[in-house]
Amino acid sequence: MEIKGRKAEILIPERKIKDKVKELGKKISKDFEGKELLVVGILKGSFIFMADLVREIKGKVYIDFMQVSSYHTEMESSGEVIFVKDLSTDIKGKNVLIVDDIIDTGRTLEALVEALKQREPEVLKTCVLLDKKERREVDFDADYVGFVIPDKFVIGYGLDWAEEGRTLKDIYAVED
Ligand code: 5GP
Repeated sequence: MEIKGRKAEILIPERKIKDKVKELGKKISKDFEGKELLVVGILKGSFIFMADLVREIKGKVYIDFMQVSSYHTEMESSGEVIFVKDLSTDIKGKNVLIVDDIIDTGRTLEALVEALKQREPEVLKTCVLLDKKERREVDFDADYVGFVIPDKFVIGYGLDWAEEGRTLKDIYAVED
């Protein structure tokens, strides 16, 4: 298919995403067995992944959202992170799982984790569906990772290109 005049090809089909989300849900359920979990989705990119993932986690799950923004061009982030929307819950003493769509340079998640640690949660873990490992600029990895992907700009399953492509069911790589 085409998006903004560029070719885009399926990188991860819907069926594979579904299987992976189930697998991640199982792992997280096991790790937090018998405990309450607050799942924090990072808007907007994680909203579809988050909705699917929380339904695969057994036990008592609560949800909240944050929105962060980094000064960026349409396809590249600068590494400067601004908190646009904060949590509506106090996380002190809670088991918290941050859910994001993708980790790229690692700067967004690293900054988020640093900020949330100050609020003294009992446990603070991170989960991403996609990991562009080779692009990392800081020493940070997520605790739960769906797929390690090559250095390509991806859209679909919640991820956008300037607000387009979020509702696609598969994940597509956009040609350079
Ligand atoms: P990081 O701070 O790890 O470099 O960037 C993470 C954020 O950059 C993600 O939450 C996402 O918003 C954006 N991002 C990085 N790579 C991609 C990509 O390939 N596609 C889209 N749509 N967003 C990306």
